[in-house]
Amino acid sequence: MGRSNVGKSSVVRQLTGKKVLVGKRPGVTKRINRYQVGEMEILDMPGFGFMSGVSRTAQERTKTEIVRYFELNHGKIVLALEVVDISSFSDIADRWEKRGQIPVDVEFFSFLKELGLNLFLVANKIDLVHNDDRDAVLDELAEKIGLPPPWRQWTDVIVPISANTGEGVSELKKLIRQKMHELGKGRYLGWLK
Ligand code: GDP
Repeated sequence: MGRSNVGKSSVVRQLTGKKVLVGKRPGVTKRINRYQVGEMEILDMPGFGFMSGVSRTAQERTKTEIVRYFELNHGKIVLALEVVDISSFSDIADRWEKRGQIPVDVEFFSFLKELGLNLFLVANKIDLVHNDDRDAVLDELAEKIGLPPPWRQWTDVIVPISANTGEGVSELKKLIRQKMHELGKGRYLGWLK
């Protein structure tokens, strides 16, 4: 799950090797995309938050639909991955905070945590952040979601990757494998490329 255009479908493609739809015109709301993989199902959730060309009412409806989905189904969810676009996270978060609001990514992270989900925060598009700036933006992300920086203390939660270049993807897969084994669900890992 994640905001529109952060790279959710690209992440699903990297993890599963499946040719899922990537780069659909941003602004087009979509339904939940489901991929059956053995006994598990992968869900690519609709993007939430601001999308150009989509009315506020439609955005709110999508958000409500996602929240309701998680409330009703959290017992069946083995793992949740929230994807953020780390290259624009800081600017977008600042904009929300200037308006006195909690950034929607941050709000969703707390919501998923409160539901008790096993949760990874995938900081995607790290290729767009200069090497020298990476620690600073990741520290800021950690702080915003309530994990005291440095972010390197939280590498079991915050995972910087580039779904385009493949950087960090093997680390994410490793964490998913570890977590699934820890949960006694290692036998359901067939979907992971
Ligand atoms: P979704 O709307 O969240 O499912 O996002 P998509 O997977 O469709 O990706 C949206 C756009 O971001 C596409 O043009 C992707 O090629 C691009 N994108 C996805 N991941 C990355 C990444 O890690 N780095 C860069 N530079 N672009 C990415």
